[in-house]
Amino acid sequence: LVSRKQQPDDTVVHVGDVQIGGYEKNLIAGPCSVESEEQVREVARALKQQGIRLLRGGAFKPRTSPYDFQGIGEEGLRILREAADEFDLKVISEIVNPSDIDLAERYIDVIQIGARNMQNFELLKAAGSSRLPVFLKRGMSATVEEFLFAAEYIVSRGNSQVMLCERGIRTYEKWTRNTLDISAVPLLKQESHLPVFVDITHSTGRRDIQLPVAKAALAAGADGLMLEVHPDPSVALSDANQQIDIAQFEKFMDEIRQSGLFQ
Ligand code: PEP
Ligand code: MN
Repeated sequence: LVSRKQQPDDTVVHVGDVQIGGYEKNLIAGPCSVESEEQVREVARALKQQGIRLLRGGAFKPRTSPYDFQGIGEEGLRILREAADEFDLKVISEIVNPSDIDLAERYIDVIQIGARNMQNFELLKAAGSSRLPVFLKRGMSATVEEFLFAAEYIVSRGNSQVMLCERGIRTYEKWTRNTLDISAVPLLKQESHLPVFVDITHSTGRRDIQLPVAKAALAAGADGLMLEVHPDPSVALSDANQQIDIAQFEKFMDEIRQSGLFQ
């Protein structure tokens, strides 16, 4: 069902009045984790000023270590909803438990399924039965074929509003957090009609190369980018080393617009 052979035309995902895919390029930005009302509002205000409509933030955080910050749960979804309504944005947030899909439908606009859950088949099935669009991230050791089969799980349950996100894969390289598989972008676009995003934050794990990586992603045909923005990354409760602050975000937006690859 996700194959271009089945559907030659690009899928356009509708999130309220926001269109994703087709001729639109979109940006999804926001903090790694929702920490407080003020933190999210500050980022939401910056997005609004830049004309960006999609706000992200993790409320349920699937952390590698059980001792790391796990997110503030439902309260985080509520904070995202309030900030989004104030600044006319749409909310995307990760859900890790099939039984929380109902909760998602009460608060948010797009369900994110993270890299660590790309093959959590019960979660994929539950998201496939939801009325919300799904943002599916590639597993860190998943092949492109496995990634597309994961998307197939969702679409085959009746939910055709699915977006794919390349977020880097595991290799022996240590100077980036993950290795961005840039060739996955044209490959996914060729094989599938679903919109394709690139996460420039988790793929690189560092701030200094995000702009050229973003340009490469758009030049390779990505429909959009995801990046993490925090008012003060140095005190962030997760991913402090890779989130950019609001001034850096504004500079990034100026430069990516100047490139002509993102309008
Ligand atoms: C995220 O986007 O919040 C995240 C945890 O990323 P990933 O699932 O790609 O590691
Ligand atoms: Mn993060």
